[in-house]
Amino acid sequence: MTALTKFIAEARSRLDAATPRPWFVAEMPFDDRSTAVYGDNTAQVACDPHGARFITDCDVTMEWTEGEPDSSIIDRANAQLIANAPTDLERALKIIEVQAEYIKGNCECYLNIVSREDCACGVLDKVEQILKEGAE
Ligand SMILES: [Zn+2]
Repeated sequence: MTALTKFIAEARSRLDAATPRPWFVAEMPFDDRSTAVYGDNTAQVACDPHGARFITDCDVTMEWTEGEPDSSIIDRANAQLIANAPTDLERALKIIEVQAEYIKGNCECYLNIVSREDCACGVLDKVEQILKEGAE
């Protein structure tokens, strides 16, 4: 198992263990603040938090922006980031896998046409190094 396949497996494991998707921010008419994130919506109405599992509410700080209602722009942006993070991560993992497979399929260094450093494999080596550095 490479550092990349280990990273993908661990990230997928965390995604699978978390509240089922889609995650969403409750909007009007259910929530006029738009800062609370929910998932596992069993309700038939989209973005209705009443049949969903509460994940977090980003409107918990003491900050208040002039001209803003109860929740600030950044609180709503944080909620959108969190609500979209699982799906964004899943897509990013799939993109990484597709790109890694393409790179492996275009290896020319085993034929000694190019050095491993100059081969597409060199990119995977850099990815491995980044993941190993991140683990420290
Ligand atoms: Zn290669």
